[in-house]
Amino acid sequence: EKIIDILKNGKIHLSCELFPPKQGAELQNSLEIVNKIAASTPSYMSVTYGAGGSTVGYSAALAKKVEDNGMPALAHLTCVKADEAKLAEVLGQLQGFGVKNILALRGDIPADMQGEEIGSFAHASELMRFVKQQGDFCVGGAAYPEGHPESGSLEKDIENTKYKVDAGVDFLVTQMFFDNTILYNYMFRLLRAGINVPVVPGIMPVTNAKQIIRICQLSGTKLPPQFRAMVEKFADKPEALKQAGIAYATGQIIDLIANGFDNVHIYTMNKPEIFAGIMNNLGEIVDK
Ligand code: FAD
Repeated sequence: EKIIDILKNGKIHLSCELFPPKQGAELQNSLEIVNKIAASTPSYMSVTYGAGGSTVGYSAALAKKVEDNGMPALAHLTCVKADEAKLAEVLGQLQGFGVKNILALRGDIPADMQGEEIGSFAHASELMRFVKQQGDFCVGGAAYPEGHPESGSLEKDIENTKYKVDAGVDFLVTQMFFDNTILYNYMFRLLRAGINVPVVPGIMPVTNAKQIIRICQLSGTKLPPQFRAMVEKFADKPEALKQAGIAYATGQIIDLIANGFDNVHIYTMNKPEIFAGIMNNLGEIVDK
């Protein structure tokens, strides 16, 4: 099933994200995690792609496992340091596994990379065109409610996001944010720029204080005062922070659904209990 059809089916649902292991020895555990999260019935599961294709085999194995569970997999794919032949090979393998949905990304540029190592495509929009040529894929892309760190300004960021729409992107998934008014402001700016593909908000339930502060510094995500107070209060009590993080994420999701978003994507960090906790909190709010 194509994700664009799920996003337009009028039901309220949540999707979630998995990341692949770094070593083969951990693959079995990751495959088990797919089964565990599948029990909480997400609408689809996305599988991330390690920088520069470092996890390609494991990402594909996880995507296959998701499809084998009767759910669409959204396979992430990055073009940094990759040439067309390699990308075509990965897409062919995914197609063989029944994967019909690709989140086409540039990937982060490694600090030590030289200009000539960039690969066949410089931007995600070029990869999107290529993916569409390679098969009948539904293609998603990334969107940044607070602007991508390299784009200079939010205005410029939105101009650049338009390249993804021009390349035929079917839907956008956002970077995490902890204040919904940031997303609502962004949606207005997108509409004003003529971008009206479905936008799936990405929500990160916080589970680790140090980690979240580091990720937010790198991505430029703002920490609202009430969120920062929560993270600081429970920084040394992991179980308490997890519960508070699930509650905070649940509050954000209910507000998003109340304001018209039908699908919310959860950055579950491979933790089945977090996805299950949010689903339990939402109860009848989501369609089963
Ligand atoms: P692009 O769209 O190419 O944008 C990169 C920068 O270039 C931006 O600043 C943009 O404004 C600018 N730009 C775009 N087009 C042009 C143009 N034509 N001319 C000038 N400037 C331009 N990374 C991974 O390695 N693996 C993953 O699995 C992964 N999953 C992600 C999932 C989501 C939902 C998100 C939000 C990010 C994910 N990332 C992942 C991180 C992502 O790869 C980085 O944020 C990366 O730096 C930018 O990717 P992009 O696809 O948005 O690139």
